This record gives sequence, structure tokens and C-alpha cells, in this order.
Amino acid sequence: MDLCISKKFETEKGSIRYRCTNKNCQSSIYVDNNVTKVLSMLNEHNHAIISENIVSRQIINSRIKRKCENDLFTRPNKIIRQELRSAENDLQTVHSDIKLWRKSMYYFRKKKLPTIPKSLEESKLQLFNLRDTLKTNLNEYFCYMEEVLNIAVLTCPTNLDILSRSNHIFADGTFLHSPKYYDQLYTIHTLQKERNRVAFMQVKKSLA
Ligand SMILES: [Zn+2]
Repeated sequence: MDLCISKKFETEKGSIRYRCTNKNCQSSIYVDNNVTKVLSMLNEHNHAIISENIVSRQIINSRIKRKCENDLFTRPNKIIRQELRSAENDLQTVHSDIKLWRKSMYYFRKKKLPTIPKSLEESKLQLFNLRDTLKTNLNEYFCYMEEVLNIAVLTCPTNLDILSRSNHIFADGTFLHSPKYYDQLYTIHTLQKERNRVAFMQVKKSLA
């Protein structure tokens, strides 16, 4: 009988133990360090053979969870699609599988993300504590606060560099669409491409 393995444990002697995917089953197998030789098998399986399809779905499930761990921001559907594309062709999935994977991804991420703040102070404290973790896709720091009482500045070195070299800077604040607990969202924009300026001037001219 094939052994379906899930959890990997390293023993004190240096060999590796794999547990059966069925949580109610006590069966496990010992292999050597290089996972090339079966050393021994402990306990018989107390259930029928798990079908290939279920095993493949479990493999995808654990891969998806691992991806969640390293990447908190890619949309769950995108990760699921990528995994399904690399899965074996004969894998049969139903809508409820996808739904379940998506649900488990949200649940897993929820544990990693901070709770929704209930006050301005809590929100600022979260931003302050996360300032060394929040990064852009180019791996640049994104949140700047010297002290928890300071205003939260969201930018990155690339943006500041562009800002310092810009001839045209537009800045304005909105009170209406500021995030919850905050009074104002103040944004600074720069004009980067000359052709945008030309287009803007033409629009301005046609409106005049
Ligand atoms: Zn078993």
C-alpha cells in the first residue's frame, strides 16, 4: 500500500519521519537524510487507500499555504491559478475546492495581518510598529514616522528622488475621502513626462 505523507519530522538520530495525511491515522515512515531509502514503517494504515485526486488536491493546498506565508499581497485567485497550471493534467477540481482554498488563504493571511484598528491612536501605533515591515514591490521602505505622534508619511526613496528633481509639483488635501479616524489625506503629485504637460496645456487651451 502506498503511503500518503503529510508532515515531515526530523528525528534526533538524523533520519526523517513522515506522517500519514489522514490525521486519524497513526501510520508513519522513517527515511534516511537524503530521502532516498525507507528505513522503517510504523503502524499500518487504518483506512482505505487515499485516491490520487485527493492527494493531488492536498499537495496544491499545502503549496498554496506556503505561498501565502511568503507573499501576503498577491490575490488568492492568482496564486490558485498559478498552482493549478503547474499541477498534473488529470487533476479534477470542483468549484468547492477553489472556494475552500480561497477561504483557507484568507484565514491564513488574517492571522498574519494586524487587526482592524478601532481608534486613531491604535491605527497610528500599528503603522508605527509596522514601519520596518511595510515595503513597496521594489523592496523600499514605505511608511515614515519618527515618533508615534507624528503624522504618517507614505512614500519611498524613489518617489522622493523624483519629487526632488521635479519642476512641477501639485499638492492638495482631501477632507472628504480621508481614511477612517483621519481628518485629511494630503497628496503630492509631480509632472514627469513632458508629453503629458503638452496634452494638459492643450486641454486647458480648449477649455478656455
Ligand atoms: Zn494512513
